[in-house]
Formats: sequence, C-alpha cells, structure tokens
Amino acid sequence: MGKVYLVGAGPGDPGLFTIRGSECIRKADVVIYDRLVHPDIVAQAPPEAELIYVGKASSTHTMRQDDINRLLVAQAKEGKTVVRLKGGDPFVFGRGGEEAQVLARNGVQFEIVPGITSAVAVPAYAGIPITQRGYCSTFGIITGHEDPTKTQSSIKWDKIATGIDTIVFLMGVENLSNIVTELTTNGRDPSTPVALVRWGTRAEQETLVGTLSDIVEKVQRTGFKSPAVTVVGEVVALREELRWFDNRPLFGKKVLVTRSRDQASALSEALSDQGAKPIEFPVIRISPPESFVYVDAALNRIEDYDWLIFTSANGVHATLDRVRQLGRDVRSLRGPKVAAIGPKTAQAVRDTGINVDFVPTEFVAEAVVRDFPEPPDAKRILILRARDAREVLPEKLKEQGAHVDVVACYQTQIEDSGTPRVKELLAAGEIDVVTFTSSSTVTNFVKLLGEGDDISLPPDTRVACIGPITAQTATDHGLKPDVVADEYTIEGLVAAIVTALHGH
Ligand code: SAH
Repeated sequence: MGKVYLVGAGPGDPGLFTIRGSECIRKADVVIYDRLVHPDIVAQAPPEAELIYVGKASSTHTMRQDDINRLLVAQAKEGKTVVRLKGGDPFVFGRGGEEAQVLARNGVQFEIVPGITSAVAVPAYAGIPITQRGYCSTFGIITGHEDPTKTQSSIKWDKIATGIDTIVFLMGVENLSNIVTELTTNGRDPSTPVALVRWGTRAEQETLVGTLSDIVEKVQRTGFKSPAVTVVGEVVALREELRWFDNRPLFGKKVLVTRSRDQASALSEALSDQGAKPIEFPVIRISPPESFVYVDAALNRIEDYDWLIFTSANGVHATLDRVRQLGRDVRSLRGPKVAAIGPKTAQAVRDTGINVDFVPTEFVAEAVVRDFPEPPDAKRILILRARDAREVLPEKLKEQGAHVDVVACYQTQIEDSGTPRVKELLAAGEIDVVTFTSSSTVTNFVKLLGEGDDISLPPDTRVACIGPITAQTATDHGLKPDVVADEYTIEGLVAAIVTALHGH
C-alpha cells in the first residue's frame, strides 16, 4: 500500500513552497496537480515520476472530483507514493478535506502538508496586511463561488458584512457584483476600500483598487479577470505605503537571457530580484574541445610557464575537469602565477583552492596588458580559453615581448532548442529586453533568428550588452544596443538595465 501526500503548493512564487512539500514531491511516483500550481514546483518531481494534470478552471472541470478521488485511491493501492498538489493550502477551499475523507474511508495512509494560502500571501505581495492594529481585529476568508447547486446561500451575509473587518474572497471575480450587493445591502459602508489581486506573487501580478461603490464598474472597464483574491476592508489603504513587490524597478518586464544553460541562473536571479521575468533561451552550449592533445601538452609542462591566464569561468571549469580526468588535482597546476580576467573568473579560480595573483581593474584585453603586474617582456604565458576567442589579448602580450601559448580548453557551440518559442514571443512583442553577455551570444542569436548576417527586432524590444565589445558585435549585425553596462559583470548589466528602464 502506498501513501498519499496532500500538499499545498503555495500561492505561486515557487520560493513560497514549503520544505516538507519539496521533500514529498522529490520522492513521488505520481504527482497529481491543479491549475494554480507553478510549473517550477511540478518540475521538482523525479524525471521518471508520472505527472497528471487534473486542473480545473472555475467553470470547465478537466476531471470531476469523484474521478480525482478514485484516482488517488487507485494509485495508492498500486503501492505508489502519490503527491496531490494543490494551489495555496489544501484545506482552504481546496477540497483537501474531502479527498482526505475518501482516503481515510478506503484505508489509504495519508499526510497533510499545509501550504501558504493565497488568501493571506497574495494581499501581502500587494502590500496589504490582512490585519493591522488600529485598522482591524478580525479577518475572514469567504468563498466567492458557492456551490451552484445550493438554493440558499450558506454565507451569513448579515453577520459578516459588518461583523468581520477584513474580508477576503477567493474565487470571487465572476461573482463580484453579487458580493458587493450583499455586503452593502447588509450595512457595509460603500466607501470601504477593495482590492483585487490577480496572479499574486508571480511576475504577472496585477492589482486593481477601488471601493465597494465603484469596484464592479472598474472591473468591467478594465476587463480584470480571475484568478484573483478580493480584499475588502480599511487595510487596503495601507498598500499605498507598503507596496513593495510590484513597484520593483523591472517589475513584469520580460527579459531574454541568452547565455548558456549552466551560466543563465546567475543572471536570471539578479533579474528576478529586480522584479523582472527572465526567459531563458540559451544560444550557446559549452562543450569539450575536439581534442585534448594541446591541453594535455600544456598541463604536462605547466612549470615552464611564468603566468597562467584564465579569461572565463568556463575556462577554469574546463581546465579543472581535464586535470581531474587525468587523475590529478590542483597541485598539478603548481608553478606559474595565475591571472583572471574579471571578478567571476577570479572567483571560479579561488573556488578551486588556487589563489589569484592578478585581476585587472577593467575586464578587457587592453587593460590586462596595461596593468600587468610585471613587464610581460620575455615572460612565458599560457592562456587557457575558448576556441575561436578574440586574438587581442595574446597579440598585445606578444607585442610586449611575451612568449604566449594559446590553448583552447573548451568550445562553444550553437544551441537551437528554444528558437521557435522565442520567435513567437518576439513577434508578439512579448520580450522587453534581450541580453547579450558575450559576442558569441550575439552571433548565435543572429544565426538562429536573423536573416543572413542581420537581424531586426520589434521597435519596443531593447538590446542590453554586457560591455563595449559585445555592443560592437551587436551593432555589426544591425542591432542597436540601448543598454551597455559600465561594469562588465552580471551585476553591472542588471544595474544598467534598471537605469535604462527605470531611470535610477
Ligand atoms: N487552496 C487555495 C485556494 C483555492 S481556491 C489557497 O489556499 O490559496 C482558488 C482561488 O484562490 C482562486 O480563484 C483565487 O481566488 C485564489 N488564488 C489562488 N492563487 C492565487 C494567486 N496566485 N493570485 C490570486 N488569486 C489566487
């Protein structure tokens, strides 16, 4: 006999999913999930787990409740670990109680994992505390969508209209005019503030504020749609001061991240922190060089070199991977001093346990040569980097009399898996910013989406480049770089996008 976990997935933002919920889903054989569950949470299931969508929008039921109940029992009886994932909390208008009853009556073991309910969290993300000293001492959560087979309302409108200070309605958008009528005819002041918050805690969050007397008209005029939480009460007024989520500088902006899959997350996270919605479209894949002959030869005579230069974190990882494949460790890199072009590369070096002797203040080849800690003259220098990288650094060093060996320890290849989707998003004007973090992201992007050597983007789509060289490559392909970072790092790029789009 298996077991069923009735798990609350929280209101949307995957960060609001509980640790216990995550533990359960990671060991699930079957995940049965609803419409309001964020896809990133479902994606935590093991790859071999079966995923069953039983989502229901409020009118069109994909699977009837009886069928869901039967499915839960049947799967458990097959000995499976079943996770039943529901939006918010399973026991807050989630029919979790009914499902648990069916399990209990069929002798199926179950566990309840509460979730953060949208009734509390969604107002919080709109800057509305559902209780506040001096404003209210009671709050209630009411269904805005009573069972349609009921002939008489079981909601005691005469009691709640004035008896509860903050009233939160779930599933109430379609029924809003009835709700407002019931509240006002039962004595609630028509000037009471009301907020509707749609897709709360997500990058798509939208809020509409009014009063009981005008909110219905506002909803009609703006075409505001479910799913939304409706908050009625004086606390709604606090939003003006406490708004924090949907006023972040890049809130709701859709930003395309073109770096390789392994590297995308740092940029995506920095963008999310500013409120943006990153869309990952890796146009580059990092792969090993065609042959390790040159890498191995260089590693075998590492002590002949005075300096070892890394130009990217990828180069550091690729080199260390090879060192390990050869059955060695970092001690085998003993001998030369180590330079890293840029803080991220330097960090990647330090993470391996090797100290960095030199990081230039500016992260372009010209500055490296200018700031080099000793005259490069007659020095033997090994540069471990990507195949087909720019020639400027080795050339400048050679001009100064250095002996330079350039060895490709990895290569970048074009990655095209996301192209059709991104084409559609761009055509629909759904991308606000395209980011480029290297010249090769530009050239691959143009190869995948352009015509010939050039590409034109919709007029409202901005182009953001990590530095002047990437920007020049973009210009060469007919793009207009609207944003160029001052500091050639991910943080610098995000800061420049914020300044360009938000003005500070
Ligand atoms: N068990 C859930 C509620 C299920 S009823 C919970 O505890 O949150 C479904 C209703 O919840 C929707 O109609 C809507 O009113 C509300 N809801 C859930 N997630 C929401 C979100 N992210 N934004 C706005 N409303 C949401």
